[in-house]
Amino acid sequence: MTSSAVFENDRLDEVIQKAKDFALTHGLIKPLEAGAVSSAVTHISFLLAPLPIPRHLFEKMQRVQLDFNKLMYNVSQDYEFICNALKSSLNYDEFTRDLVEIYHKVHQKKIKDRGMLEILRCDYMLDSKNNEEQFKQIEINMIAAGMASTSAILTHLHRYTLRLSGNYEGANQVPDNLSLEGVATALVRAWEVYGQPNASILLVAEPTDVCCYNHRHIEFSVHEINPQISFMRTSLGDIGKRASLADDQQLIMDGIEIAVVYYRTGYKPAFYKSKVEWNGRFIAEQSCAIKCPSIGGHLAGTKTVQQALSEPGVIERYIDDPEAVVRIRNTFCKLYSLDLGPKGDHAVDIAINNREKFVLKPNREAGGNNLFGNEIFKKLTEFKDSPERTKYILMEKIVPVKVKGYLVKQLKPAVTLQELSYELGIFGAVVGNNNGIVHNRQIGHLLRTKPAEANEGSLLAETAVMDSPFLTS
Ligand code: ADP
Ligand code: MG
Repeated sequence: MTSSAVFENDRLDEVIQKAKDFALTHGLIKPLEAGAVSSAVTHISFLLAPLPIPRHLFEKMQRVQLDFNKLMYNVSQDYEFICNALKSSLNYDEFTRDLVEIYHKVHQKKIKDRGMLEILRCDYMLDSKNNEEQFKQIEINMIAAGMASTSAILTHLHRYTLRLSGNYEGANQVPDNLSLEGVATALVRAWEVYGQPNASILLVAEPTDVCCYNHRHIEFSVHEINPQISFMRTSLGDIGKRASLADDQQLIMDGIEIAVVYYRTGYKPAFYKSKVEWNGRFIAEQSCAIKCPSIGGHLAGTKTVQQALSEPGVIERYIDDPEAVVRIRNTFCKLYSLDLGPKGDHAVDIAINNREKFVLKPNREAGGNNLFGNEIFKKLTEFKDSPERTKYILMEKIVPVKVKGYLVKQLKPAVTLQELSYELGIFGAVVGNNNGIVHNRQIGHLLRTKPAEANEGSLLAETAVMDSPFLTS
């Protein structure tokens, strides 16, 4: 595969400095120190030039996003299915159990949100295992679906670095990415569905969130669309301490009614440091505010539900169009439940005997939780006949296509040329009112690149960086 840009060695330092300055001046930034509340910033890590991806495969994934939006919108509202899928894993997974407990309580109280908003991201890797390269789905992020703003702005950086390399025409091969505008538009549409002009959008984040500037981009973008909409930001803990419910289940924060709660936190146990954060989540969930995601949506994004959706006949329950069902199913890898019984036993056996061909996944988000290779062997040998194995699902491992590129990092070594593999995310947004879906969009993409030999990469630890596609024919 040819690269999108060739930089002469004696110009490389200059190009990198310009790219870093482009990032800093266009808001591709993060706090200099994680956990600090200060105005000292640095640029995010990124790949110097965009990565070649076959256009027809990229566009196929864009198209199937509308099907996934509809699927996940419908699944999010199927209480029985979600509870049933998760049932056997809960004894050994305290975090998911706590979330499901909230789900049960709000379901029993028959609390009805005034509308629905799901902003999701489907992640894929280009599998090189078979003769024909295909994007296969890694996961559907229903809550940990961030970086939309960074990704949109990075598109402009990559068009710039292509031009610096002398590839002027190539900038047209970097597709438009309206993910920031798409998130903001969906928030505004949900706010309109709620239908209370004085009510606010509330973005819920960690108190010192490394993504704070990403959140600001979203806030500013909402302001561009409708400057009348009040936009607040707070933590789960502050909701726990300061929010209340009014007579008709309205969520009130600091005296202001909340129309939309947009969670940019809440998806891993570490975000609930005490009962106060759980209380914050519970108060918000008991309200009629539109939550993004809904608690059903959050749970629909677990790995266990992903596996359950891959069982024969399940997608058909949510999607009428048989062609859409095929489009969705074609993106799936083989997924296996480890529930007790002959099917689960068989899955354990094949994983133990072919450990390099699988990934073992618990119901966790945001990276660093999956098991690979010898870790699979060890864990499954330990849990072979134990019900504890049900807190994992087993997934066929994708062998991703490899590419080469320059990683530009803030940390030393600041620039390295490496063999890489990438993961493509497509963002979707879907808004509904009491009569059904009123807004269903594919809103943009995100490309993350990690060293080819690594099983997982992390943007936070700079072992993965952000990138853009360069579409080839
Ligand atoms: P998380 O919710 O933690 O992001 P993911 O399912 O996205 O969980 O897995 C994290 C990472 O593990 C992915 O970004 C990818 O690098 C790797 N990974 C996950 N599933 C597979 C797979 N089936 N084949 C190859 N790598 C995978
Ligand atoms: Mg992921």
